[in-house]
Amino acid sequence: MQKCVECGGKIRTIKDRPYHYDESGLDVVLYGITQFQCENCGEDYVSLPNVERLHRAIGGFICSQRKALLTPAEIIFLRKDLHLKSKELAALLGVRPETVSRWERGKESIGETQDRLLRSIYMNYASEKANNVICHGVIQMFTDLPRERTKIKTPQAIELNPSDWLGPEMELCR
Ligand SMILES: [Zn+2]
Repeated sequence: MQKCVECGGKIRTIKDRPYHYDESGLDVVLYGITQFQCENCGEDYVSLPNVERLHRAIGGFICSQRKALLTPAEIIFLRKDLHLKSKELAALLGVRPETVSRWERGKESIGETQDRLLRSIYMNYASEKANNVICHGVIQMFTDLPRERTKIKTPQAIELNPSDWLGPEMELCR
């Protein structure tokens, strides 16, 4: 970047200043990110090298390291990184859309089961993104479930061909 977009002023480079990634909606501090600042008006600029991988790292940290029930900001972050609208997340978790918006506004705490399920969906999704293990993916798996289910009398047989489980690539969903 040569000139300030705001005022056309000269830009200086700032290295080794921690960057507070407030755009994440969370308290995230990034080290080793080169930042730029306009010498004239003081406008800050930053260019993050790989936002997608950064988001995966943040989401993975939340799911595996945060031991308390997910906070409203954490739920919003995970939902957005899953590219879901709140009513879509509600459908995956088997709750009403109002429930998700109540969690996200801090009006109600996410329950123990939904907290664990959301973490599980996120971590599966992140792992699929990393190496494409499961073809249709965890989101499809939960999308296909209605919110309230009935019992089936005679479950269909599970039919597997040798290629479904003996081949070099697993193809469990067709
Ligand atoms: Zn400027």
